[in-house]
Amino acid sequence: TDVYDTAATVSAVRAAAAMIAGHKAELTRLDQAIGDGDHGENLARGFHAVLVKLESAAPATPADALKLVATTLISTVGGASGPLYGTAFLRASTALAGAAELTPELVAAALAAARDGVVARGKAEPGDKTMVDALGPAAEAARAAADGGGGVREVLAAAADAAARGSEATVPLQARKGRASYLGERSVGHVDPGSRSTAYLLASFAAGATG
Ligand code: ADP
Ligand code: MG
Ligand code: MG
Repeated sequence: TDVYDTAATVSAVRAAAAMIAGHKAELTRLDQAIGDGDHGENLARGFHAVLVKLESAAPATPADALKLVATTLISTVGGASGPLYGTAFLRASTALAGAAELTPELVAAALAAARDGVVARGKAEPGDKTMVDALGPAAEAARAAADGGGGVREVLAAAADAAARGSEATVPLQARKGRASYLGERSVGHVDPGSRSTAYLLASFAAGATG
């Protein structure tokens, strides 16, 4: 298939769950360095619950699929990242409302909405060493790729690349939000775990794009 329809979105969600499960130990290790060491467990628990829900639910649209992710993460992840990712997926879902398949414009709009939702909820600014440092550049790259005439695959790939680079760029930053901020200067020199999980999630959605 070369369209990013409901089936493609559901398969990307499954891929995201597998990606998070496969990187659970790494995400936990990153959170052990500057947090409380539960980020991998938190997200793996949430995405496992997503897979269980998908056994009995049949999302009718890409927006439905993302809404299922949002509500499940909100009720199962906890911590700082649960409500933040829940908000991100819920806002993205709202941006896609009604569409049968993704378009470059919708992807850019969904990522901007996700970023705005996370910022509204968590009040982190760029450079605070949070998932915003991956999601913000991802939204900007998606917008630029869509404006440049890129297809859904290119827009999602640009977003995933920017998120990965944004996550890596958190290393020299001092955390100003979340648990890592309690460490002050000792948070410098480590990747922010939430930025890394954001990069993995976007990589999964990009890999799901075939058109
Ligand atoms: P907790 O810190 O409650 O244990 P997690 O370990 O699951 O939650 O998630 C930690 C991640 O959440 C951080 O690495 C960071 O990316 C993100 N985070 C924490 N606070 C904020 C915030 N206010 N805004 C954006 N992201 C945040
Ligand atoms: Mg934690
Ligand atoms: Mg915790």
